[in-house]
Amino acid sequence: MVIVMSAEAEQGYIDAVIARIEELGYTPHPIQGTERTVIAAIGDERGKYELQQLESMHAVDKVVPILEPYKLSGREYRSERSVIRIGNLEIGGDRLILMAGPCSVESREQILEAAETVKESGAQILRGGAFKPRTSPYSFQGLGEEGLEYLAEARDKTGLLIITELLDSYDLQLVEKYTDIIQIGARNMQNYGLLSRLRKTKKPVMIKRGMMSKVDELLLSAEYVLSGGNYNVLLCERGIRTFETATRNTFDLNAIPVIKKMSHLPIVADPSHGTGDSEFVPPMAKAAVAAGADALMIEMHPNPDKALSDGAQSLSPDTFLQLVDELQPFIEASGRGF
Ligand code: PEP
Ligand code: MN
Repeated sequence: MVIVMSAEAEQGYIDAVIARIEELGYTPHPIQGTERTVIAAIGDERGKYELQQLESMHAVDKVVPILEPYKLSGREYRSERSVIRIGNLEIGGDRLILMAGPCSVESREQILEAAETVKESGAQILRGGAFKPRTSPYSFQGLGEEGLEYLAEARDKTGLLIITELLDSYDLQLVEKYTDIIQIGARNMQNYGLLSRLRKTKKPVMIKRGMMSKVDELLLSAEYVLSGGNYNVLLCERGIRTFETATRNTFDLNAIPVIKKMSHLPIVADPSHGTGDSEFVPPMAKAAVAAGADALMIEMHPNPDKALSDGAQSLSPDTFLQLVDELQPFIEASGRGF
């Protein structure tokens, strides 16, 4: 249920409604909008008749049910788009945000070199996995904490923010200590135990769409984090599995406008995993911007042929810098800056 307060409701009346929601055994999630405050009451659906009675409380305008199963990520709860702020950076605002870097952190030299190119391009966020979800246990698994240290050093040297994957809740404190944004990979989108652990982290969380998951399931995964009071969630389209084998995944461009309609959360597009082929990354990156993505995540490696993971889809520094140039008209056409 969403409790819509009247435009002139004083804080005392808002607090009284919040207290009543708690008394009834629900969790209140207030949003202070530009015009009025709305409060979502989240919990067991069975008590919805009791919640309906909040309509008679002072300064309550109306009580409306949230019909969609994704209560807090949906537009019924929040019609305005969410902007995630990290320091001075805004994701979901007027500027397209660019995240780029290698699939994995492989060495100190490799990530520092990649960071220089990312910085030079004007991108704001450096990516790189220190804990890698590999299909084979015999493939490179990442450098672990050593990789996180190199990422932090790259941040210190360039001023870029960093995003890196949390693979196992066992490493939460460690990853949290180093990173600016916690990435949850496609394979863990439905790891509900892991998602629940992120309710209390202060760091923003980017959840990648599972390769076999529908958009509404992605929103429900976000709900695990949001319902614990961590509202800093980004969603990421990274391609899904279909019958098509010409590309590694089928980059679901539809998901961008669809998610923007269903949800207020910022949407990140990852055409690198979406296509699996460096040749197709630039056109799909442009398409994602044109479709309204709030941010792009692009894999770029100082030497793609030598990459320990995802070399085939990684851009070289030159092709990456060229892509960023070529993106500019698409960014402008979509009404954004860079
Ligand atoms: C990655 O970003 O390198 C990665 C492993 O992505 P995904 O979880 O989308 O496969
Ligand atoms: Mn990768």
